[in-house]
Amino acid sequence: MTRAAEFTDDFPCFLCGSPDYKVLHRKGPYRSVKCAVCGLVYITPRLVSSAILDLYDSKYWQSDRAKDYGYTDYLADAPLYLSTYKMRSRIIDEYKDSPGKVLDVGCAAGFFLKVMDDKGWETHGIEVSEPVSEYARGELGLHRVRTGDTSCLLDLPDDYFDVITFWDVVEHLEDPRCALKAAQPKLKDDGILIVETQNVESTFAHVLGRNWQHYKYEEHLYHFGPQTIRKLLAQSGCGRFQPMNIPMTSNSNVLMWASPDHNYLPKQNIINGD
Ligand SMILES: [Zn+2]
Repeated sequence: MTRAAEFTDDFPCFLCGSPDYKVLHRKGPYRSVKCAVCGLVYITPRLVSSAILDLYDSKYWQSDRAKDYGYTDYLADAPLYLSTYKMRSRIIDEYKDSPGKVLDVGCAAGFFLKVMDDKGWETHGIEVSEPVSEYARGELGLHRVRTGDTSCLLDLPDDYFDVITFWDVVEHLEDPRCALKAAQPKLKDDGILIVETQNVESTFAHVLGRNWQHYKYEEHLYHFGPQTIRKLLAQSGCGRFQPMNIPMTSNSNVLMWASPDHNYLPKQNIINGD
């Protein structure tokens, strides 16, 4: 359990600095608020940094309260994640004719990287959680997975990766701008960046309100919409990347950004969402 001392003071908006917001929902000590100026939805107060880091221990991956925190049994659901990432990897097939080098930031147990490894890619990962990054290396043989936070990005070579992915990660980071800024120079000029996160402006989010499944107050610190993710990318030096125009029939709950290619249109609906 968290203690009162583990919560931050009230926050101004991460994107524009405004202290003005409208409270959307409350849960325990937490509030989800919407910035009055730029519309970013964020959590204030939230856990302090050290308590956020502590979230990602082994309990996170085998949680007895997955509605609010972590996963019921992440590793047991490996077939599900492998199947989802196989579908997602087809996005990359649309851009890249042959295997190259891929970095997955926040790679968890390495299921996306396993899919890419099977396709012949050189795979690199960064994962803050010790138990699952050990699983990625030990069980899946993904030897280039590092255990650490996004500052590990600084140790990687510039102009090296064909693809860098952030699957369901930016909402967890205290400073997603810093992480994206660090990732950007690691991409080759024709590299693609995939940033995927839940869409707080989606119909699901509006209809479900406080019951939207992504309001997990300890771990999801930000909830982006199309405009605020665009602002985040612009502030991170990633303004050249464009949204993926994916015909997501029932899944406009997912925001995806990739590639400087403005004309990209996938051949089929290849995302089944979260
Ligand atoms: Zn703002």
